[in-house]
Amino acid sequence: MYGKVLVTGGAGYIGSHTAQQLLDAGNDVVILDNLSNGHRAMAPEGARFVRGDLADRALLAEILGSGIDAVLHFAGSIVVPESVADPLGYYRNNTLNTHGLLQACVEQGVGQFIFSSTAAVYGDTALVPVPENAPTLPISPYGASKLMTEWMLRDTAAAHGLRYVALRYFNVAGADLRARRGQSSKNATHLIKVAVEVLTGQREKLAIFGGDYPTDDGTGVRDYIHVVDLANAHVKALDYLRGDGDCQVLNCGYGKGSSVKQVIAALERVSNRKIPVEMAPRRAGDVAELVAEAGRIRGLLGWQPEHDDLELIVRTALDWERKRIGLG
Ligand code: UDP
Repeated sequence: MYGKVLVTGGAGYIGSHTAQQLLDAGNDVVILDNLSNGHRAMAPEGARFVRGDLADRALLAEILGSGIDAVLHFAGSIVVPESVADPLGYYRNNTLNTHGLLQACVEQGVGQFIFSSTAAVYGDTALVPVPENAPTLPISPYGASKLMTEWMLRDTAAAHGLRYVALRYFNVAGADLRARRGQSSKNATHLIKVAVEVLTGQREKLAIFGGDYPTDDGTGVRDYIHVVDLANAHVKALDYLRGDGDCQVLNCGYGKGSSVKQVIAALERVSNRKIPVEMAPRRAGDVAELVAEAGRIRGLLGWQPEHDDLELIVRTALDWERKRIGLG
């Protein structure tokens, strides 16, 4: 099924991968991105690119009024510590801007919406794996800003008939298999991105934040999902909504955990190099283990991950990083 869609944040990491797959599936794609974090070159060829801001209501009305049948909303701020330092900036960028976008959807009669939510809505959960109906108690303004958007979606759906899928992402990593796009953020804090920066000579070493967690090897465990599989979950979610599916909030992970040490070992195998590491104290706000209960999305959307392989995830991340800095 195809139509004309708006992808906000379509020049960013996950949005650009998804925009490519939406085009491949035959959709007309309009990308709206202010390039605050995105890169023009990552937006796929074949999409209409609009450089602009979500706060620009006239622009939103114009785009949504041009025959758009669904919005995929990726644009937003995503750095947890930054959200602690600048909560109001996060509530403006993530919550208020989405309020404006939803308002514009209601006014223009756009009835299908796919939202980038996050496992951070679960906060410091002890449930492993964590199901969608677990309590949502975010411990950062970032998680709270995303949860507030889930609430706006729920209530807008009830009042105005909008249908939506909110995807709660676990740890997204890896890159396009042909290295056309990948993670490009500056001052990255994510494990795999930091590790490939060490391997490409941009940092001296990797700090392991905590070796005394109650996990098998003492380091933190996360559910790493390849960005291409995550992008495909959005395409499936869109098919589902176009097929008259109901509103859903779905975990997006593989349902299996890898420790920091396992990630490092996988990178050492694919690169054939040793990564210099140092043990460091636990990082504030980190939980020991965060793994998705991952069955619902497969059952409801028919999503079939194809890249559930830690070595593939880290190898594509490394290939992209080498290309990005001109080594590959
Ligand atoms: N981590 C680490 N060193 C780093 C970055 C992350 O040991 O330089 C650990 C972190 O403590 C967590 C895991 O790697 O256990 C994943 O962290 P990341 O920041 O990638 O994602 P998060 O789960 O915080 O969203």
